[in-house]
Amino acid sequence: MHWVDVYAEQLLGRGKKHFVESGTSISGEPHLGSAEDLIISDGIAKAIIAGGGECKTIWAMDDLDGLRKIPPQLPKEFEQYLGQPAYVLPCPDGCCDSFADHFTRPFLENLERIDVRPEPVSVAQMYRDGKYDEVVKIALDKAAEITAIIKEVSGSERDDNWLPFFAICENCGCILTTQAYAWDGQKVSYRCKGGTAGKNFIPGCGHEGQAGIRQGKLPWRVEWAARWSHLGVTFEPMGKDLMAAGGTYETGKAICEQIFNSPAPLAVPYEWIVTEGGKRLGKSVGRVLTIGEFVDIATPEIARYFFIRSNPTSHKDVDFGLGIMKLAEEYETAERAYFGLETGLPEKEIEDVGRNYEISQISGVPETFSQVSYSHLISTVQVSRDWDHILETLSRTDNLSQMTPEHERRLKIKVNAVKVWLATHAPEDMVFQLQIEPPATEISELQKYALDDLLDQMKIIDWTPDKIHNAIHENAVSHGIKAGDMFKLMYRIFLNHTKGPRLGYFLASLDQKFVTDRIKHFSEPHPEKHGVKVDL
Ligand SMILES: [Zn+2]
Ligand SMILES: [Zn+2]
Repeated sequence: MHWVDVYAEQLLGRGKKHFVESGTSISGEPHLGSAEDLIISDGIAKAIIAGGGECKTIWAMDDLDGLRKIPPQLPKEFEQYLGQPAYVLPCPDGCCDSFADHFTRPFLENLERIDVRPEPVSVAQMYRDGKYDEVVKIALDKAAEITAIIKEVSGSERDDNWLPFFAICENCGCILTTQAYAWDGQKVSYRCKGGTAGKNFIPGCGHEGQAGIRQGKLPWRVEWAARWSHLGVTFEPMGKDLMAAGGTYETGKAICEQIFNSPAPLAVPYEWIVTEGGKRLGKSVGRVLTIGEFVDIATPEIARYFFIRSNPTSHKDVDFGLGIMKLAEEYETAERAYFGLETGLPEKEIEDVGRNYEISQISGVPETFSQVSYSHLISTVQVSRDWDHILETLSRTDNLSQMTPEHERRLKIKVNAVKVWLATHAPEDMVFQLQIEPPATEISELQKYALDDLLDQMKIIDWTPDKIHNAIHENAVSHGIKAGDMFKLMYRIFLNHTKGPRLGYFLASLDQKFVTDRIKHFSEPHPEKHGVKVDL
């Protein structure tokens, strides 16, 4: 059974109505890891609904969290806002109402492209509207019990008079710098004494004041439990490091059950996405990889497939280079499996692989099968002038008669994705330029004779990738040339390069006469053809 169905079954066993929450701190454009969280939620939510249940999905934008560091995409001037809650920050480019708006809108729009549509909720707004009044009061009243739970579950100690509340300093506007020291049932007294954010210490302004319960927030572990209780969250995906013994989830669960008297949600652990270098995807390390970029180069379905294809706890590498092509190939295998056309998979895997394809669809599964592979399009788009020419080229190598308007719509999106990939992330040796005129290249006598024999073959064979590939291979063998060298020779005379796309597909995508004319240009008949014996 597919993992989304396993979770859905488990949750439906507990009840029909479900609520899934994901939260993301707003400190720049959310990266692929935040999208992962929401896509896992979406996959399970849809399986719950398909199984006869209900499921509401919200995305809590943690815009009351203080700005802890300046991510690379923010201007240096933002240092003045360190420690302040994100919801008060301005748009860095001056184009939106707020900082949060500027970064969350594109994120949500790109998620919509893969049919993930959580309801966005501003956490700052929830506090300001008084939605959290009750849970904040409970947390402050039971501060001593929370201190004891944290100590018991996680082993970390708090001062005896610790209070679970960060006030926003009324003097300097920072939230990361205040320490609460008294609670009178109405107001929290605090000192702005400075606080640590990662390796940084953010100095406080020294102000002492009082804040109402809507002018601040609960610390993260308590907040998480309060949110589960307040919203009635029934499951939540979370990075598996949060689920370590004595970790954030266990502490939150104990607080949720013992302080707020609510059941904790079912945790859905997932593995963080890592980039090629094995680094965990993070906002502060180098460039931000976004879901928008991913969808642009992979197509919506293939991007969605990346997150759905394996259990959330399995290893996930993201590679926008060659990895995109491999990912597309895997998706295409799943597509064939769904339509009962894949013979290369063990029987027991076919169903789950096909289900991966089904769950990856944005606008339903097409009624019939039609597929042009991503890797094939890589060469097709590079040898074609425009859309009509692409269709003409494809009709030489693929059977397009099965193509419905829906298939054509999808093909257009795939073609665009390939174009963006070639322009942005494709490895250099995948990008080529067909030489319209024969390039100047030195070739040996033996190669000239071999090309002459190849020419005879290429004029008469069926113009299909396999036949072309085999003809070149056999030609090389019969002339005692290494097949690899013969392939290189072909790349040289067509691309003026020693590498290129899959040769059979590439040549099949070209006009047969163009190919034979080019081979003819470089070939020379073997003297033996005219009855003269020579030693080679
Ligand atoms: Zn803006
Ligand atoms: Zn202050």
